[in-house]
Amino acid sequence: MAASVPPTRPRIPGSGLARGLAVTLRTMTKKTVTEQYPDVQPDLPPRTRGVIGLFEENCTVCMLCARECPDWCIYIDSHKETVPAATPGGRERSRNVLDRFAIDFALCMYCGICIEVCPFDALFWSPEFEYAETDIRDLTHERDKLREWMWTVPAPPALDPAAEEPKEIAAARKTAEKLAAQQEAQPEVQSPTEPHADEQARAAEQPTRPTGESKQQTDQPRQEGDA
Ligand code: SF4
Ligand code: SF4
Repeated sequence: MAASVPPTRPRIPGSGLARGLAVTLRTMTKKTVTEQYPDVQPDLPPRTRGVIGLFEENCTVCMLCARECPDWCIYIDSHKETVPAATPGGRERSRNVLDRFAIDFALCMYCGICIEVCPFDALFWSPEFEYAETDIRDLTHERDKLREWMWTVPAPPALDPAAEEPKEIAAARKTAEKLAAQQEAQPEVQSPTEPHADEQARAAEQPTRPTGESKQQTDQPRQEGDA
């Protein structure tokens, strides 16, 4: 049995043109969304993933970011250094010293895993994105360049007023309060070089020699036979 074919509507001449003009009129009355980049810089959200900044001072060369990077585009070189014992009889320690830290942004897929896994807050997102290069090799950013990006990282947003106080700030506040309480509890210690209040009062009561007299004495010529 043959399938039934739905009847086609008769086409009105010029209906396609009318529909096209209707679309044009609708679009003309809407606000334009075209970004005038590069004449006008785009207003990017603060958490934009533009480029990765390295805060070298926080990096302990644990290699976690390089191991977790799915693209293997983080290159880290380091060597070990022996730190002498801090106290007599103490143990020497060894620490990692960073020699090279580079990210190849030609391979990076901006997943953010390296930033998430870094346990020492050494990597951050910066919204900067204007680092296109004509040579692909220049997209490998070495530690100096990654440090430069660090200064473009926006400040973190303020905490929610109802949020719990961060552990670091709570610990610092408690230490400051403890020190202030200890200082208040200590009796005032007199400096050995500072005269006592009674001595200062006695010295103020004693008559002082006029300065003119002393000058006259010193200006007198030496008599013969003076020792
Ligand atoms: S963002 Fe992802 S791909 Fe890029 S360096 Fe970090 S872990 Fe690797
Ligand atoms: S995970 Fe963080 S601390 Fe460890 S090597 Fe990477 S940047 Fe440095």
